[in-house]
Amino acid sequence: MTLQIEDLVVEHRSPGRPVVRAVAGASLTVSPGEVVGLVGESGCGKSTLARAVCGLNPVTGGSITFEGRPVTPLGLRRRTLTAVQMVFQDPYASLNPRRRVGDQIADGLRTAGDRATTPADLLERVGLPREFAARHPHEFSGGQRQRIAIARALAARPRMLIGDEPISALDASAQAQVATLMRDLAVDSGAGLLFISHDLSVVRLIADRIAVMYLGRIVEVGNTAEVWADPRHPYTRALLQAIPRPDGMGVLPAELPGDVPDPANPPAGCRFHPRCPLAMDVCREKEPAPGPVACWLHEPA
Ligand code: SF4
Repeated sequence: MTLQIEDLVVEHRSPGRPVVRAVAGASLTVSPGEVVGLVGESGCGKSTLARAVCGLNPVTGGSITFEGRPVTPLGLRRRTLTAVQMVFQDPYASLNPRRRVGDQIADGLRTAGDRATTPADLLERVGLPREFAARHPHEFSGGQRQRIAIARALAARPRMLIGDEPISALDASAQAQVATLMRDLAVDSGAGLLFISHDLSVVRLIADRIAVMYLGRIVEVGNTAEVWADPRHPYTRALLQAIPRPDGMGVLPAELPGDVPDPANPPAGCRFHPRCPLAMDVCREKEPAPGPVACWLHEPA
């Protein structure tokens, strides 16, 4: 496995406020050349998980292992400076507005010790003209800027790409193109891709496996087509039912029906029980074990 996340816990602490356990025991793997889509409502902890993998959020518990070696967040950040690259939601904020894009891509090539590739080569790989290297970020559309951010990430020759809502700030026309580009580039180079999005149609299009996150936990993981055809966790079913029909594709609503519990004070037992139409007595008392489907209805006999 390239990336193995085991029982990960990440807490947010701020003075005078209750501790928020944004990631509360999540486990997930991403293999080389595999695309895993991570979905869930906003605030469910998926971006916090991604930032922890990149060493940008300190880990409270559990472990993150990259290429077989357990790493601390700081160690991960150092060791994987080139191996793990993140593409952020806002491509404008992640690029330096004062520097030519070619110079910014060249930084990654230098870090990776790559003298054979030029920034123009990478721009070409992400579908942009070579001469764009001489221009500045403000001269481009959102979709073009995100392609530049991807070219800059690729310059470092990553073995793992993390996309944290990388298409949500783009026009609808650019979203599927940029997502498919990330998938193709990752798969072609043998890198894994953890793709975080609330756009289920795009996740369905590009992901080999899908992981569904609710209040800091992964509640269902499986082959994308199988989960789509037969969602087993009641939360996954609610998510899929909430997206626009009739083609079964679309963006998640900001919230599903029912009160979203306070992450600082999550419900006892199954965290989804206050919103679950199938909740039983055991659901209010005991948390279901993690697994492909973390639900008492799907406990192994
Ligand atoms: Fe619903 Fe119970 Fe399953 Fe939780 S464990 S999703 S409350 S049936």
